[in-house]
Amino acid sequence: MVKAEKFDAIVVGAGPAGTTAAYVMAKAGLDVALLERGDYPGAKNMYGGAIYRWPIELVVPDFVEKAPVERKVTEHRLMVLSKRSGLTLSFKDLSFAQPPYNAFTTHRAKFDCWYAGLAEQAGALLATSVNVTDLIWDGKKVVGVRAGSGPENELYSDVVIAADGANSRLAVKSGLRQPLNPKEVALGIKEILELRSETIRSRFNLEKGEGVAIQVIGATHGMMGGGFIYTNRNSLSIGIVVLLEHLIRSKMKPYDILEEFKCHPLIIPLIKGGEPKEYSAHLVPEVGYYGVPKLYLDGLLLVGDAAFLTNSVYQEGVNMAIESGLYASRTVIKAKERGDYSSKTLSDYERTLRSSYLMRELYQLRDLPEIFESNPRLFSLYPEIINYVMKELLTMDGELRRTKLKKVMKTIREKVSLSNLLRDLIKARKLLP
Ligand SMILES: Cc1cc2nc3c(=O)[nH]c(=O)nc-3n(C[C@H](O)[C@H](O)[C@H](O)COP(=O)(O)OP(=O)(O)OC[C@H]3O[C@@H](n4cnc5c(N)ncnc54)[C@H](O)[C@@H]3O)c2cc1C
Repeated sequence: MVKAEKFDAIVVGAGPAGTTAAYVMAKAGLDVALLERGDYPGAKNMYGGAIYRWPIELVVPDFVEKAPVERKVTEHRLMVLSKRSGLTLSFKDLSFAQPPYNAFTTHRAKFDCWYAGLAEQAGALLATSVNVTDLIWDGKKVVGVRAGSGPENELYSDVVIAADGANSRLAVKSGLRQPLNPKEVALGIKEILELRSETIRSRFNLEKGEGVAIQVIGATHGMMGGGFIYTNRNSLSIGIVVLLEHLIRSKMKPYDILEEFKCHPLIIPLIKGGEPKEYSAHLVPEVGYYGVPKLYLDGLLLVGDAAFLTNSVYQEGVNMAIESGLYASRTVIKAKERGDYSSKTLSDYERTLRSSYLMRELYQLRDLPEIFESNPRLFSLYPEIINYVMKELLTMDGELRRTKLKKVMKTIREKVSLSNLLRDLIKARKLLP
């Protein structure tokens, strides 16, 4: 890199947040550098498996025809597992199989690469294998980034957008965020199992091109988290996400938890014959609304996971990344028009973001991280109880249902005290809109 080079904006990280920002700014005519440490965008990125149509359609209206989509998600399932049984709730809507569709499965390695390609076509300079190590300051103002030692590794700009993901080095260097705390972050691990497209269709009861997204409770030994399965064209994505603090405390190996999940009697038939092709692990922030930090300084904005903008309940990290990248880019475009990249102008980003759909949604769920983190009953005891109740009520053995119900109530009271049950019900009410 040449020291004299100066961009309107440098975006660090070519995930969905950074690429959105780079694409929109480049399209508006700004001089943009998009720096990515991976060999190519998406090389180091992983997630469960689905992206919603909104808000990416705000950025690329015809993306359905162009993006490397695996399957359109037409069915969502929630499985509540105990050791040997499971209750499955399923919602399928055939309109989800029609334009404009609703959600898609896609591989991040392909999607991120395709998306960053759009930014490049719009005029952004994409530089891969660039590991940004620090911010460059002029007093209290960020004026560029450093990707190694020496002036040849310095790059300057009017504004830097930190889109470097959950473990954002730049957010910490800026002082806007603390290093990750195991209480605030979950570890996700995932395997891709290759399976014939026809097998996936018949096994999951899908029409051509349709896909299913499955969330699973009860697969994490009582730790905050869950399991997931997504159907791709010729493969399944299967994984678990567990709060890091709980994982450390449990002394369990994440891979063992995933193996156990894969060996559950209700999961085996879904993945049977799947050939392991890929194994990956990644962090996902779990801080919720109250943990979102201040998002700007003079010359700096934080977006996506770097800004802790994730909604893990609805698996909406990519959505939030895209929406935040969009707002950040609009703010920078305005800043260029005004010729002012100070906090005064850049604070517009946080103001508009905080009144956006994603932040209002996050606000609705503001109590969730505390409720989830402090209540292991949700992830083991209640799934067990639900399965026990279903089994009792559905077993035909000559015992009157009323008698069974009394027995069930007695067992529940033995397993969870009335005060805990009431406390949990009161907390659960907070989750309702
Ligand atoms: C197991 C798991 C399952 C998930 N499932 C879903 C799901 O189904 N749907 C959904 O919407 N979300 C899901 N998420 C969340 C989602 O993946 C993230 O919220 C989303 O990827 C955030 O996008 P981002 O652009 O902010 O960060 P990232 O996608 O993490 O991108 C950050 C980029 O910055 C680059 N980078 C990092 N440091 C540097 C550096 N120093 N220099 C240069 N480049 C750097 C990285 O290589 C990467 O390309 C899941 C997450 C996990 C872990």
